[in-house]
Amino acid sequence: MIGVSAYAEQARWAAWDVPASVVPQRYLDKVLAAGGVPVILPAVADISGALPRLDGLLLVGGGDVDPVRYGALPHAKTGRVFPARDVAELALLHGALELGLPILGICRGLQLLNVALGGTLHQHVPDVVGHGGHSGGEGTFARHDVHLRAGSGLARALNRTTLDVPSLHHQAIDRLGTGLMATAWSDDGLIEAAELDGHPFTVGVQWHPEADEDVALFAALVAAADTAVVH
Ligand code: MN
Repeated sequence: MIGVSAYAEQARWAAWDVPASVVPQRYLDKVLAAGGVPVILPAVADISGALPRLDGLLLVGGGDVDPVRYGALPHAKTGRVFPARDVAELALLHGALELGLPILGICRGLQLLNVALGGTLHQHVPDVVGHGGHSGGEGTFARHDVHLRAGSGLARALNRTTLDVPSLHHQAIDRLGTGLMATAWSDDGLIEAAELDGHPFTVGVQWHPEADEDVALFAALVAAADTAVVH
């Protein structure tokens, strides 16, 4: 059973236009395809109480983490900040780390993992790398290569060291959080993945494996969830 953190959004369907907890279906389908059972976790304050009944945690993409969480003032391009979602997902992350639950963070999920462990973010990647190649624009994936650290959990899970990935982000890891090891980089030197030393499976990737065919990363999460000894 893999808990999947939800977006907190105003959503429209049928006659409704209401606050809603939503997860893009492709994340759920990938967990299913990898042999897991996805369980949607809404952005409510005490949701971490669900963790003892779960076997793994998937933190999905979304808007920017509130810069106050890593002691920075907001950049002009920082946006779609949802403090309630930050609170809920940070509680999930800290709880999962304490319990030893396997964790996969995707895009915002990686950034949140880094912030939870005391790291900081680049608030606008084009300012850092001088190009816009990490995003295809609103709602569109760019593609670029990433290079994985040989011998990392990520390289073992994906069984390769170079990968062409769908990318849609304007923020990225700046200073790494405590215990995190960078395990992938883009050609321009951005950190594209990180893993937690000494934890059975805590992996974050800056790209979007849910938008590609390969389920290997989700399968690695589900395999870790199958074998995890939860405290
Ligand atoms: Mn990228």
